[in-house]
Amino acid sequence: MGTLSELHFVMVPHPAQGHIIPMVDVARLIGARGPRVTVVTTPVNAARNRATVDGARRAGLPLELLELPFSGPQHGLPEGIEAVDQLTGHELGMFLSFFHATWNLAGPLEEYIRALPRLPVCLVADMCNPWTAAVCERLGIPRLVMHCPSAYFQLAVNCLTAHGVYDRVDEMEPFEVPGFPVRAVGTKATFRGFFQYPGVEKEYRDTIEAEATADGLLFNTFRGIEGTFLDAYASALGKKTWAVGPTCASSTMADDADSKAGRGKPADVDAGHIVSWLDARPPASVLYVSFGSISQLTTKQFAKLARGLEASGRPFVWAIKEAKADAAVRALLDEEGFEARVKDRALLVRGWAPQVTILSHPAVGGFLTHCGWNGTLETLSLGVPTLTWPTIADQFCSEQLLVDVLGVGVRSGAKLPAWYLPTEAEGVQVESGDVEKAVAELMGDTPEAAARRSRAKELAAKARTAMEEGGSSYSDLTDMIRYVSELSRKRSLEIDAMPFAAAELGSNKGEKIEADAALSVQS
Ligand code: UDP
Repeated sequence: MGTLSELHFVMVPHPAQGHIIPMVDVARLIGARGPRVTVVTTPVNAARNRATVDGARRAGLPLELLELPFSGPQHGLPEGIEAVDQLTGHELGMFLSFFHATWNLAGPLEEYIRALPRLPVCLVADMCNPWTAAVCERLGIPRLVMHCPSAYFQLAVNCLTAHGVYDRVDEMEPFEVPGFPVRAVGTKATFRGFFQYPGVEKEYRDTIEAEATADGLLFNTFRGIEGTFLDAYASALGKKTWAVGPTCASSTMADDADSKAGRGKPADVDAGHIVSWLDARPPASVLYVSFGSISQLTTKQFAKLARGLEASGRPFVWAIKEAKADAAVRALLDEEGFEARVKDRALLVRGWAPQVTILSHPAVGGFLTHCGWNGTLETLSLGVPTLTWPTIADQFCSEQLLVDVLGVGVRSGAKLPAWYLPTEAEGVQVESGDVEKAVAELMGDTPEAAARRSRAKELAAKARTAMEEGGSSYSDLTDMIRYVSELSRKRSLEIDAMPFAAAELGSNKGEKIEADAALSVQS
């Protein structure tokens, strides 16, 4: 009889922080149930995530990183550029080359799998990695697509496509999303799907096709907040769909302090220093400000935000990744004296901040966020209400979910991706007075602010329950492991019945994963 530890999952994240972090989390959750899990990535990304994976291994989880060479330089990218957040300055125009370089991982990945003594039970691929479809098809391996944005966003894009709205309306023409479970209003600019841009039509078709042919879909979310959207999406696509998050709320993620602080990348500041700084503040008094790993404000908008935070009079921690490469930002912080003026009540992190360490501290009472889906789930899991400032992609949908559906957010007033606002002056969507007002609204003592805080706490409790044994996300993960194990067993039987295909697969063709193993997964 097989055991869970005989199962092997291969996870293929997209090389961006907002995709690798949740994929590594899911790898840890699967590993905690027994199967061996290999996370496939490139050398730079492997180095960034090694501390987390090593921490998981120390805790006894059968996790490993597989480094595959990245062909960026063959596509004109400088050596060492292997993650989306590194595409700044000159490299920004090389987005497409970057994607094509990731798609070149197919050959080395297939070689790796062919050399294994037995086939993996399942490959879990980020939705941005449609190139994995052909690899899995050739090898007969079940494949799941993992979506890193919300189900709300995926469903909205699906409804807009199905109803032909994208073809019908002008770029800035407001519309209501048809056939959607809640009232959602926006424009094409705020409801664009991944790869739904001119020039990447083939890549877009590939992702849609790879999703349509997948054996199921994984979401980092939970039914307590997104059940309606998940069910509607599953039925629109006719796919098995599992919600296994929010991963950050699982006790499996209750790492030692070091792994938590190094989540996604080693922090550019001593986490212990931040914790001591927060320890000295009253509960729920500090605003945490971060725009995630990619989103950038224009220089003028950055200055308005700085002035607004200063005028708010509240203590804050601000993760300023721009401070590393942007001279104008450094000038504002240093020569123009911003940091000196706020030093008694603000802590500026120049680079990567230990976000979950900060958000989980009781002194933090609000999060000014760009509404990336991971940050959104982290703040929901930790019961921190939000000041929402979306900038691109699915972030406008996360804002709607936080503010309109869940009632835990206050809007900053940002309405469009910055590239829709051609001049520097137009690039300012939120004035410093707006920031000051929104911070007061979020952090203040009004009954509305208190209600937001208490809803945030309720949702955090629900998130934890979903991840505990017997919770909806815990059960969905159990079901997913059972389902793919069974599917893998069936596929390997089919392959055995096809002598030519079996011969082509080589040494690992006939290894069957016992269904018994899957059936012994705890429910
Ligand atoms: N993050 C972090 N420190 C930073 C910036 C981001 O730890 O200084 C983490 C954050 O906790 C989240 C991820 O990076 O897990 C960013 O993902 P999200 O979806 O929020 O935004 P994205 O960067 O993809 O826009």
